Amino acid sequence: MILSFDPDSLPLPIGHFIGSRLVPAEGLIDMHRPSDGKPYAGCPLADEVLVDRAVETAKKALKASNWGGVRPRERTVVLQRWADLIESEAETLAKLEALSSTRPIGHLVAGDIAVSAEQIRFFAEFADKEGSDLVPTDDSNLGMIMTEPYGVVGAITPWNFPVSMAAWKLGPALAAGNAVVLKPSEMTPFSTVYLAELAIRAGLPAGLINIVLGDGAVTGNAITGHPDIAKVSFTGSTGAGSAIMANIARTGIKPMTLELGGKSPQLVFADADLNKAAAAIAQSILSNAGQACVAGSRLIVEESIAAPLAEAIIARFWEVEAGPTWHETTQYSPIISKRQLNRIHDVVQSTVATGAECLAGGRPMDSYGYFYEPTLIAGVDQSSPAVAEEIFGPVLTLQTFADEEEALALADHPTYGLAAGLFTRDLSRALRLTRRLQAGTVWVNRYGRSRDHILPTGGHKRSGIGKDLGREVYHANRKSKSVLISL
Ligand code: NAD
Repeated sequence: MILSFDPDSLPLPIGHFIGSRLVPAEGLIDMHRPSDGKPYAGCPLADEVLVDRAVETAKKALKASNWGGVRPRERTVVLQRWADLIESEAETLAKLEALSSTRPIGHLVAGDIAVSAEQIRFFAEFADKEGSDLVPTDDSNLGMIMTEPYGVVGAITPWNFPVSMAAWKLGPALAAGNAVVLKPSEMTPFSTVYLAELAIRAGLPAGLINIVLGDGAVTGNAITGHPDIAKVSFTGSTGAGSAIMANIARTGIKPMTLELGGKSPQLVFADADLNKAAAAIAQSILSNAGQACVAGSRLIVEESIAAPLAEAIIARFWEVEAGPTWHETTQYSPIISKRQLNRIHDVVQSTVATGAECLAGGRPMDSYGYFYEPTLIAGVDQSSPAVAEEIFGPVLTLQTFADEEEALALADHPTYGLAAGLFTRDLSRALRLTRRLQAGTVWVNRYGRSRDHILPTGGHKRSGIGKDLGREVYHANRKSKSVLISL
Protein backbone atom coordinates (compact mmCIF):
# COMPACT_ATOMS: atom_id res chain seq x y z
CA MET A 1 0.00 0.00 0.00
CA ILE A 2 1.36 3.44 -0.95
CA LEU A 3 0.26 5.93 1.66
CA SER A 4 1.81 9.19 0.44
CA PHE A 5 -0.80 11.49 -1.08
CA ASP A 6 -1.32 14.85 -2.74
CA PRO A 7 -2.72 17.22 -0.08
CA ASP A 8 -4.25 19.54 -2.69
CA SER A 9 -6.66 16.97 -4.09
CA LEU A 10 -8.21 15.43 -0.99
CA PRO A 11 -12.01 15.91 -0.73
CA LEU A 12 -12.98 17.07 2.78
CA PRO A 13 -16.25 16.43 4.65
CA ILE A 14 -16.81 20.07 5.61
CA GLY A 15 -19.84 20.06 7.86
CA HIS A 16 -21.36 18.70 11.04
CA PHE A 17 -22.48 15.10 11.32
CA ILE A 18 -25.97 14.92 12.75
CA GLY A 19 -28.25 11.89 12.67
CA SER A 20 -26.96 9.80 9.82
CA ARG A 21 -25.53 12.40 7.49
CA LEU A 22 -23.17 15.25 6.88
CA VAL A 23 -24.84 18.64 7.37
CA PRO A 24 -22.74 20.88 5.09
CA ALA A 25 -21.83 24.21 6.66
CA GLU A 26 -19.79 27.23 5.81
CA GLY A 27 -16.18 27.05 6.97
CA LEU A 28 -15.78 30.05 9.24
CA ILE A 29 -12.57 29.31 11.14
CA ASP A 30 -9.41 29.53 8.99
CA MET A 31 -7.34 26.35 8.83
CA HIS A 32 -3.68 26.06 7.82
CA ARG A 33 -1.75 22.87 7.12
CA PRO A 34 0.98 22.46 9.77
CA SER A 35 3.30 20.74 7.29
CA ASP A 36 3.53 23.69 4.87
CA GLY A 37 1.55 26.52 6.45
CA LYS A 38 -0.85 26.69 3.50
CA PRO A 39 -4.47 27.79 4.14
CA TYR A 40 -6.72 25.02 2.82
CA ALA A 41 -10.18 25.06 4.41
CA GLY A 42 -12.43 26.55 7.03
CA CYS A 43 -13.95 24.84 10.05
CA PRO A 44 -17.69 25.38 10.53
CA LEU A 45 -18.89 26.85 13.81
CA ALA A 46 -21.92 25.27 15.48
CA ASP A 47 -23.92 27.72 17.57
CA GLU A 48 -26.26 26.93 20.48
CA VAL A 49 -29.16 26.20 18.10
CA LEU A 50 -27.17 23.62 16.17
CA VAL A 51 -25.81 22.00 19.34
CA ASP A 52 -29.38 21.81 20.61
CA ARG A 53 -30.43 20.12 17.35
CA ALA A 54 -27.65 17.55 17.85
CA VAL A 55 -28.75 16.89 21.44
CA GLU A 56 -32.40 16.49 20.38
CA THR A 57 -31.32 14.09 17.64
CA ALA A 58 -29.36 12.05 20.20
CA LYS A 59 -32.31 11.93 22.62
CA LYS A 60 -34.70 10.79 19.89
CA ALA A 61 -32.23 8.17 18.70
CA LEU A 62 -31.82 6.75 22.20
CA LYS A 63 -35.57 6.42 22.49
CA ALA A 64 -36.18 4.98 19.04
CA SER A 65 -33.33 2.46 19.20
CA ASN A 66 -33.59 1.63 22.92
CA TRP A 67 -29.77 1.51 22.71
CA GLY A 68 -29.37 1.52 26.50
CA GLY A 69 -31.90 -1.29 26.92
CA VAL A 70 -31.15 -3.75 24.12
CA ARG A 71 -29.44 -7.06 24.82
CA PRO A 72 -25.93 -5.78 25.69
CA ARG A 73 -24.23 -8.12 23.21
CA GLU A 74 -26.00 -6.24 20.40
CA ARG A 75 -24.03 -3.15 21.35
CA THR A 76 -20.82 -5.18 21.41
CA VAL A 77 -21.44 -6.60 17.93
CA VAL A 78 -22.21 -3.20 16.35
CA LEU A 79 -19.13 -1.60 17.88
CA GLN A 80 -16.96 -4.51 16.71
CA ARG A 81 -18.27 -4.04 13.15
CA TRP A 82 -17.36 -0.37 13.48
CA ALA A 83 -13.81 -1.33 14.49
CA ASP A 84 -13.58 -3.64 11.44
CA LEU A 85 -14.67 -0.78 9.17
CA ILE A 86 -12.16 1.61 10.77
CA GLU A 87 -9.45 -0.89 9.85
CA SER A 88 -10.63 -1.37 6.30
CA GLU A 89 -11.02 2.40 5.79
CA ALA A 90 -7.79 3.27 7.63
CA GLU A 91 -6.23 4.88 4.59
CA THR A 92 -9.03 7.40 4.00
CA LEU A 93 -9.28 8.15 7.69
CA ALA A 94 -5.51 8.63 7.93
CA LYS A 95 -5.41 11.01 4.96
CA LEU A 96 -8.11 13.24 6.47
CA GLU A 97 -6.18 13.36 9.71
CA ALA A 98 -2.68 13.74 8.26
CA LEU A 99 -3.75 16.72 6.17
CA SER A 100 -4.73 18.94 9.07
CA SER A 101 -2.90 17.47 12.04
CA THR A 102 0.68 16.81 13.09
CA ARG A 103 0.40 13.04 12.71
CA PRO A 104 2.45 11.49 9.89
CA ILE A 105 0.38 9.22 7.67
CA GLY A 106 2.58 6.17 8.31
CA HIS A 107 2.20 6.54 12.07
CA LEU A 108 -1.54 6.96 11.71
CA VAL A 109 -2.16 3.80 9.72
CA ALA A 110 0.18 1.53 11.69
CA GLY A 111 -0.35 3.24 15.05
CA ASP A 112 -3.18 5.58 16.00
CA ILE A 113 -5.89 4.11 13.78
CA ALA A 114 -4.99 0.44 14.27
CA VAL A 115 -4.85 0.99 18.03
CA SER A 116 -8.13 2.95 18.05
CA ALA A 117 -9.90 0.03 16.33
CA GLU A 118 -8.44 -2.32 18.92
CA GLN A 119 -9.56 -0.03 21.74
CA ILE A 120 -13.11 0.18 20.40
CA ARG A 121 -13.23 -3.65 20.44
CA PHE A 122 -11.85 -3.58 23.98
CA PHE A 123 -14.56 -1.14 25.16
CA ALA A 124 -17.26 -3.06 23.27
CA GLU A 125 -16.51 -6.19 25.30
CA PHE A 126 -17.53 -4.47 28.54
CA ALA A 127 -21.15 -4.11 27.43
CA ASP A 128 -22.17 -7.67 28.28
CA LYS A 129 -19.63 -8.35 31.01
CA GLU A 130 -19.78 -5.53 33.53
CA GLY A 131 -23.12 -5.41 35.33
CA SER A 132 -24.95 -4.70 38.52
CA ASP A 133 -23.85 -6.12 41.89
CA LEU A 134 -25.76 -7.94 44.60
CA VAL A 135 -24.42 -6.69 47.92
CA PRO A 136 -24.42 -8.28 51.39
CA THR A 137 -27.31 -7.24 53.65
CA ASP A 138 -29.15 -8.93 56.53
CA ASP A 139 -31.41 -11.77 55.35
CA SER A 140 -34.62 -9.76 55.56
CA ASN A 141 -33.45 -7.57 52.66
CA LEU A 142 -31.95 -7.92 49.21
CA GLY A 143 -29.51 -5.16 48.28
CA MET A 144 -28.13 -4.39 44.87
CA ILE A 145 -26.27 -1.69 43.01
CA MET A 146 -27.83 -1.25 39.58
CA THR A 147 -26.10 0.74 36.87
CA GLU A 148 -27.62 2.49 33.89
CA PRO A 149 -26.43 4.79 31.08
CA TYR A 150 -26.51 8.56 31.55
CA GLY A 151 -28.34 9.31 28.29
CA VAL A 152 -26.59 11.93 26.16
CA VAL A 153 -22.89 12.36 26.91
CA GLY A 154 -21.00 15.45 25.72
CA ALA A 155 -17.40 14.96 24.60
CA ILE A 156 -14.71 17.46 23.60
CA THR A 157 -11.35 16.43 22.15
CA PRO A 158 -7.98 18.11 21.40
CA TRP A 159 -6.02 18.30 18.15
CA ASN A 160 -2.97 16.25 19.04
CA PHE A 161 -4.36 12.73 18.45
CA PRO A 162 -7.79 13.38 16.90
CA VAL A 163 -8.98 9.86 16.01
CA SER A 164 -7.48 8.28 19.13
CA MET A 165 -9.06 10.82 21.44
CA ALA A 166 -12.44 10.47 19.72
CA ALA A 167 -12.24 6.66 20.01
CA TRP A 168 -11.41 6.96 23.73
CA LYS A 169 -14.60 8.98 24.25
CA LEU A 170 -17.02 7.36 21.80
CA GLY A 171 -16.12 3.70 22.43
CA PRO A 172 -16.89 3.49 26.15
CA ALA A 173 -19.84 5.92 26.05
CA LEU A 174 -21.58 3.89 23.32
CA ALA A 175 -20.70 0.51 24.83
CA ALA A 176 -22.24 1.70 28.09
CA GLY A 177 -25.52 2.50 26.29
CA ASN A 178 -25.30 6.28 25.82
CA ALA A 179 -25.58 8.57 22.81
CA VAL A 180 -22.82 11.15 22.24
CA VAL A 181 -22.50 14.72 21.00
CA LEU A 182 -18.80 15.28 20.32
CA LYS A 183 -16.85 18.38 19.37
CA PRO A 184 -13.39 17.76 17.91
CA SER A 185 -10.75 20.49 17.86
CA GLU A 186 -11.45 23.24 15.34
CA MET A 187 -7.94 22.59 13.97
CA THR A 188 -8.45 18.90 13.16
CA PRO A 189 -12.15 18.08 12.76
CA PHE A 190 -12.47 16.07 9.53
CA SER A 191 -11.21 12.63 10.56
CA THR A 192 -13.67 12.64 13.46
CA VAL A 193 -16.56 13.40 11.09
CA TYR A 194 -15.54 10.45 8.93
CA LEU A 195 -15.19 8.22 12.03
CA ALA A 196 -18.84 8.94 12.85
CA GLU A 197 -19.91 8.20 9.28
CA LEU A 198 -18.19 4.80 9.54
CA ALA A 199 -20.09 4.02 12.75
CA ILE A 200 -23.41 4.57 11.01
CA ARG A 201 -22.26 2.46 8.05
CA ALA A 202 -21.39 -0.27 10.55
CA GLY A 203 -25.00 -0.34 11.75
CA LEU A 204 -24.99 2.02 14.73
CA PRO A 205 -28.51 3.48 14.94
CA ALA A 206 -28.54 6.95 13.37
CA GLY A 207 -28.31 9.78 15.88
CA LEU A 208 -26.27 7.98 18.52
CA ILE A 209 -23.12 9.81 17.39
CA ASN A 210 -23.35 13.48 16.47
CA ILE A 211 -20.29 15.55 15.65
CA VAL A 212 -20.59 19.30 15.94
CA LEU A 213 -17.70 21.43 14.73
CA GLY A 214 -16.58 24.70 16.23
CA ASP A 215 -14.42 26.39 18.83
CA GLY A 216 -14.45 26.21 22.62
CA ALA A 217 -16.02 29.59 23.34
CA VAL A 218 -19.17 29.01 21.27
CA THR A 219 -19.65 25.30 20.51
CA GLY A 220 -17.76 23.91 23.52
CA ASN A 221 -19.69 26.13 25.92
CA ALA A 222 -22.99 25.19 24.32
CA ILE A 223 -22.18 21.49 24.92
CA THR A 224 -20.97 21.74 28.51
CA GLY A 225 -23.84 24.05 29.47
CA HIS A 226 -26.62 22.12 27.70
CA PRO A 227 -29.27 21.01 30.22
CA ASP A 228 -29.88 17.66 28.47
CA ILE A 229 -26.23 16.65 28.32
CA ALA A 230 -25.97 14.49 31.41
CA LYS A 231 -22.20 14.05 31.57
CA VAL A 232 -19.14 15.69 30.05
CA SER A 233 -15.90 14.01 29.02
CA PHE A 234 -13.11 16.43 28.10
CA THR A 235 -9.50 16.14 26.99
CA GLY A 236 -7.44 19.29 26.57
CA SER A 237 -5.52 21.94 28.44
CA THR A 238 -5.80 22.62 32.16
CA GLY A 239 -6.98 26.17 31.38
CA ALA A 240 -9.88 24.94 29.26
CA GLY A 241 -10.66 22.31 31.92
CA SER A 242 -11.06 25.09 34.50
CA ALA A 243 -13.32 27.07 32.14
CA ILE A 244 -15.46 23.95 31.62
CA MET A 245 -15.79 23.37 35.37
CA ALA A 246 -16.85 27.00 35.78
CA ASN A 247 -19.43 26.73 32.99
CA ILE A 248 -20.84 23.50 34.42
CA ALA A 249 -21.06 25.10 37.87
CA ARG A 250 -22.82 28.11 36.34
CA THR A 251 -25.33 26.20 34.22
CA GLY A 252 -26.08 23.16 36.37
CA ILE A 253 -24.34 20.26 38.05
CA LYS A 254 -23.17 17.23 36.09
CA PRO A 255 -20.35 14.70 36.35
CA MET A 256 -17.27 15.33 34.27
CA THR A 257 -14.08 13.59 33.33
CA LEU A 258 -11.19 15.95 32.67
CA GLU A 259 -7.97 14.71 31.03
CA LEU A 260 -5.69 17.74 31.15
CA GLY A 261 -2.14 18.93 30.72
CA GLY A 262 1.15 17.51 31.95
CA LYS A 263 4.81 18.29 32.58
CA SER A 264 6.04 14.81 33.22
CA PRO A 265 9.44 14.04 34.78
CA GLN A 266 11.79 11.22 33.82
CA LEU A 267 14.15 10.21 36.64
CA VAL A 268 17.35 8.40 35.68
CA PHE A 269 19.66 6.80 38.25
CA ALA A 270 23.31 5.94 37.61
CA ASP A 271 22.57 2.19 37.78
CA ALA A 272 20.08 2.36 34.87
CA ASP A 273 20.62 0.81 31.43
CA LEU A 274 21.70 4.10 29.81
CA ASN A 275 21.12 3.07 26.22
CA LYS A 276 17.61 1.91 26.96
CA ALA A 277 16.90 5.06 28.99
CA ALA A 278 18.28 7.37 26.27
CA ALA A 279 16.15 5.69 23.59
CA ALA A 280 12.95 5.90 25.65
CA ILE A 281 13.56 9.49 26.76
CA ALA A 282 14.40 10.75 23.27
CA GLN A 283 11.41 8.94 21.78
CA SER A 284 9.05 10.42 24.37
CA ILE A 285 9.95 14.01 23.42
CA LEU A 286 10.36 13.38 19.67
CA SER A 287 7.05 11.57 19.30
CA ASN A 288 4.52 13.95 17.72
CA ALA A 289 7.24 16.61 18.30
CA GLY A 290 6.46 16.62 22.02
CA GLN A 291 2.80 17.43 21.43
CA ALA A 292 1.53 14.71 23.73
CA CYS A 293 -0.01 15.19 27.16
CA VAL A 294 2.34 12.55 28.62
CA ALA A 295 5.48 13.82 26.86
CA GLY A 296 8.37 13.25 29.27
CA SER A 297 9.55 16.84 29.11
CA ARG A 298 11.64 17.09 32.30
CA LEU A 299 14.77 14.95 32.48
CA ILE A 300 16.03 14.60 36.06
CA VAL A 301 19.28 12.65 36.15
CA GLU A 302 21.88 11.55 38.72
CA GLU A 303 24.85 13.93 38.43
CA SER A 304 27.48 11.30 37.59
CA ILE A 305 25.73 10.20 34.36
CA ALA A 306 24.27 13.51 33.19
CA ALA A 307 26.90 14.15 30.50
CA PRO A 308 26.88 10.70 28.79
CA LEU A 309 23.07 10.50 28.96
CA ALA A 310 22.67 13.96 27.41
CA GLU A 311 25.08 12.96 24.65
CA ALA A 312 23.19 9.75 23.91
CA ILE A 313 19.87 11.62 23.75
CA ILE A 314 21.26 14.34 21.47
CA ALA A 315 22.64 11.66 19.14
CA ARG A 316 19.08 10.42 18.72
CA PHE A 317 17.84 13.96 18.11
CA TRP A 318 20.17 14.17 15.08
CA GLU A 319 18.57 11.07 13.56
CA VAL A 320 15.14 12.65 13.08
CA GLU A 321 14.01 13.64 9.63
CA ALA A 322 11.24 16.17 9.44
CA GLY A 323 8.80 15.95 6.58
CA PRO A 324 5.22 16.65 5.58
CA THR A 325 2.63 14.51 7.29
CA TRP A 326 1.42 13.30 3.87
CA HIS A 327 4.72 11.56 3.09
CA GLU A 328 4.79 7.92 4.03
CA THR A 329 8.38 8.08 5.29
CA THR A 330 7.98 11.09 7.61
CA GLN A 331 8.95 10.39 11.20
CA TYR A 332 9.20 13.83 12.80
CA SER A 333 6.04 15.96 13.09
CA PRO A 334 5.40 19.65 12.52
CA ILE A 335 3.97 21.89 15.25
CA ILE A 336 0.21 22.37 14.96
CA SER A 337 0.20 26.13 14.22
CA LYS A 338 2.36 29.17 13.68
CA ARG A 339 1.05 30.55 16.97
CA GLN A 340 2.14 27.45 18.87
CA LEU A 341 5.53 27.45 17.08
CA ASN A 342 6.09 31.04 18.24
CA ARG A 343 5.00 30.18 21.77
CA ILE A 344 7.46 27.29 21.98
CA HIS A 345 10.26 29.57 20.82
CA ASP A 346 9.24 32.30 23.29
CA VAL A 347 9.44 29.87 26.21
CA VAL A 348 12.84 28.58 25.04
CA GLN A 349 14.20 32.10 24.61
CA SER A 350 12.89 33.34 27.94
CA THR A 351 14.51 30.30 29.59
CA VAL A 352 17.83 30.98 27.87
CA ALA A 353 17.54 34.61 29.02
CA THR A 354 17.67 33.37 32.63
CA GLY A 355 21.12 31.85 32.01
CA ALA A 356 20.11 28.39 30.75
CA GLU A 357 21.95 26.76 27.83
CA CYS A 358 20.59 24.90 24.81
CA LEU A 359 22.72 21.75 24.48
CA ALA A 360 20.79 20.97 21.28
CA GLY A 361 18.24 22.77 19.13
CA GLY A 362 16.54 25.92 20.34
CA ARG A 363 15.15 27.29 17.06
CA PRO A 364 12.39 26.84 14.51
CA MET A 365 13.65 24.64 11.66
CA ASP A 366 14.63 26.24 8.42
CA SER A 367 11.62 24.93 6.46
CA TYR A 368 8.34 26.17 5.07
CA GLY A 369 6.10 24.36 7.59
CA TYR A 370 5.87 24.80 11.35
CA PHE A 371 8.80 22.64 12.50
CA TYR A 372 10.90 23.11 15.65
CA GLU A 373 14.29 21.58 16.37
CA PRO A 374 14.47 18.87 19.03
CA THR A 375 15.81 20.85 21.98
CA LEU A 376 17.65 19.99 25.19
CA ILE A 377 18.11 22.78 27.76
CA ALA A 378 20.47 22.57 30.76
CA GLY A 379 21.16 25.05 33.56
CA VAL A 380 17.49 25.33 34.55
CA ASP A 381 15.72 25.26 37.91
CA GLN A 382 12.12 24.82 39.06
CA SER A 383 11.28 28.44 38.27
CA SER A 384 12.64 28.43 34.69
CA PRO A 385 9.79 28.92 32.19
CA ALA A 386 10.72 25.72 30.33
CA VAL A 387 10.42 23.71 33.56
CA ALA A 388 7.37 25.42 35.02
CA GLU A 389 5.14 25.61 31.92
CA GLU A 390 3.64 22.93 29.71
CA ILE A 391 5.36 23.76 26.39
CA PHE A 392 3.71 21.11 24.20
CA GLY A 393 6.69 20.93 21.84
CA PRO A 394 9.98 19.03 21.39
CA VAL A 395 11.72 20.66 24.34
CA LEU A 396 13.39 18.63 27.09
CA THR A 397 14.93 20.24 30.18
CA LEU A 398 17.84 18.70 32.08
CA GLN A 399 18.25 18.90 35.86
CA THR A 400 20.59 16.87 38.06
CA PHE A 401 20.25 15.35 41.52
CA ALA A 402 22.56 13.93 44.18
CA ASP A 403 20.18 11.57 45.98
CA GLU A 404 16.65 10.13 45.95
CA GLU A 405 15.14 12.90 48.06
CA GLU A 406 16.44 15.57 45.73
CA ALA A 407 15.21 13.61 42.71
CA LEU A 408 11.71 13.39 44.20
CA ALA A 409 11.68 17.06 45.12
CA LEU A 410 12.59 18.04 41.56
CA ALA A 411 10.06 15.60 40.08
CA ASP A 412 7.21 17.09 42.10
CA HIS A 413 5.56 19.75 39.92
CA PRO A 414 3.31 22.30 41.63
CA THR A 415 0.61 22.07 38.95
CA TYR A 416 0.80 18.81 37.03
CA GLY A 417 0.85 15.11 37.91
CA LEU A 418 0.03 13.21 34.73
CA ALA A 419 2.86 10.70 34.25
CA ALA A 420 6.41 9.96 35.40
CA GLY A 421 9.27 7.78 34.18
CA LEU A 422 11.82 6.05 36.39
CA PHE A 423 14.99 4.35 35.17
CA THR A 424 16.93 2.17 37.65
CA ARG A 425 17.99 -1.47 37.99
CA ASP A 426 17.28 -1.37 41.73
CA LEU A 427 13.83 -2.91 42.20
CA SER A 428 13.43 -1.71 45.80
CA ARG A 429 14.20 1.84 44.78
CA ALA A 430 11.78 1.60 41.84
CA LEU A 431 8.93 0.52 44.11
CA ARG A 432 9.87 2.98 46.86
CA LEU A 433 9.84 5.93 44.47
CA THR A 434 6.79 4.75 42.54
CA ARG A 435 4.82 5.04 45.79
CA ARG A 436 5.95 8.61 46.30
CA LEU A 437 5.76 10.02 42.76
CA GLN A 438 2.79 12.36 42.28
CA ALA A 439 1.52 11.03 38.96
CA GLY A 440 -1.46 9.16 37.55
CA THR A 441 0.89 6.81 35.66
CA VAL A 442 4.43 5.68 36.49
CA TRP A 443 6.52 3.89 33.85
CA VAL A 444 9.58 2.01 35.10
CA ASN A 445 12.46 1.35 32.69
CA ARG A 446 10.25 2.39 29.77
CA TYR A 447 8.30 5.49 28.83
CA GLY A 448 4.95 5.65 27.06
CA ARG A 449 1.72 3.71 26.78
CA SER A 450 1.56 0.09 25.71
CA ARG A 451 -1.41 -1.65 24.11
CA ASP A 452 -2.62 -2.81 27.54
CA HIS A 453 -5.86 -0.86 27.38
CA ILE A 454 -6.90 -2.16 30.79
CA LEU A 455 -4.48 0.34 32.37
CA PRO A 456 -6.42 3.57 32.95
CA THR A 457 -4.86 6.92 32.16
CA GLY A 458 -5.47 10.21 33.92
CA GLY A 459 -3.86 12.79 36.10
CA HIS A 460 -3.21 13.73 39.68
CA LYS A 461 -3.20 17.38 40.76
CA ARG A 462 -4.41 19.74 38.01
CA SER A 463 -3.71 17.16 35.30
CA GLY A 464 -7.28 16.03 35.62
CA ILE A 465 -10.21 14.29 37.22
CA GLY A 466 -11.22 10.71 36.39
CA LYS A 467 -9.73 8.31 33.88
CA ASP A 468 -9.78 7.33 30.25
CA LEU A 469 -9.18 3.70 29.22
CA GLY A 470 -9.43 0.76 31.63
CA ARG A 471 -12.55 -0.40 33.45
CA GLU A 472 -12.82 3.05 34.99
CA VAL A 473 -13.90 4.75 31.80
CA TYR A 474 -16.67 2.22 31.18
CA HIS A 475 -18.04 2.69 34.69
CA ALA A 476 -17.71 6.47 34.40
CA ASN A 477 -20.21 6.22 31.54
CA ARG A 478 -22.88 4.60 33.74
CA LYS A 479 -24.52 5.93 36.85
CA SER A 480 -25.33 3.73 39.83
CA LYS A 481 -28.56 3.25 41.72
CA SER A 482 -28.70 1.57 45.13
CA VAL A 483 -31.72 -0.70 45.56
CA LEU A 484 -32.93 -2.34 48.78
CA ILE A 485 -35.84 -4.76 48.67
CA SER A 486 -37.54 -5.91 51.84
CA LEU A 487 -38.11 -9.66 51.67
P1 NAD B 1 -7.37 23.08 24.34
O1 NAD B 1 -7.74 23.02 25.78
O2 NAD B 1 -7.02 24.39 23.75
O3 NAD B 1 -8.58 22.51 23.45
C1 NAD B 1 -9.08 21.20 23.61
C2 NAD B 1 -10.51 21.17 23.14
O4 NAD B 1 -11.31 21.94 24.02
C3 NAD B 1 -10.72 21.77 21.74
O5 NAD B 1 -11.71 21.02 21.09
C4 NAD B 1 -11.20 23.18 22.06
O6 NAD B 1 -11.98 23.75 21.05
C5 NAD B 1 -12.03 22.92 23.31
N1 NAD B 1 -12.20 24.05 24.23
C6 NAD B 1 -11.32 25.05 24.49
N2 NAD B 1 -11.84 25.88 25.42
C7 NAD B 1 -13.06 25.38 25.76
C8 NAD B 1 -14.09 25.79 26.66
N3 NAD B 1 -13.97 26.87 27.42
N4 NAD B 1 -15.22 25.04 26.76
C9 NAD B 1 -15.35 23.92 26.01
N5 NAD B 1 -14.42 23.49 25.11
C10 NAD B 1 -13.28 24.21 25.01
O7 NAD B 1 -6.21 22.00 24.13
P2 NAD B 1 -5.45 21.64 22.79
O8 NAD B 1 -4.47 22.72 22.51
O9 NAD B 1 -6.42 21.23 21.73
O10 NAD B 1 -4.68 20.30 23.24
C11 NAD B 1 -3.51 20.32 23.97
C12 NAD B 1 -3.80 20.15 25.46
O11 NAD B 1 -4.51 18.94 25.66
C13 NAD B 1 -2.52 20.02 26.25
O12 NAD B 1 -2.63 20.76 27.44
C14 NAD B 1 -2.45 18.52 26.55
O13 NAD B 1 -1.68 18.18 27.67
C15 NAD B 1 -3.89 18.16 26.70
N6 NAD B 1 -4.11 16.73 26.49
C16 NAD B 1 -4.36 15.93 27.57
C17 NAD B 1 -4.53 14.55 27.40
C18 NAD B 1 -4.76 13.64 28.59
O14 NAD B 1 -5.12 12.48 28.38
N7 NAD B 1 -4.58 14.11 29.82
C19 NAD B 1 -4.46 14.00 26.12
C20 NAD B 1 -4.22 14.84 25.03
C21 NAD B 1 -4.05 16.22 25.23
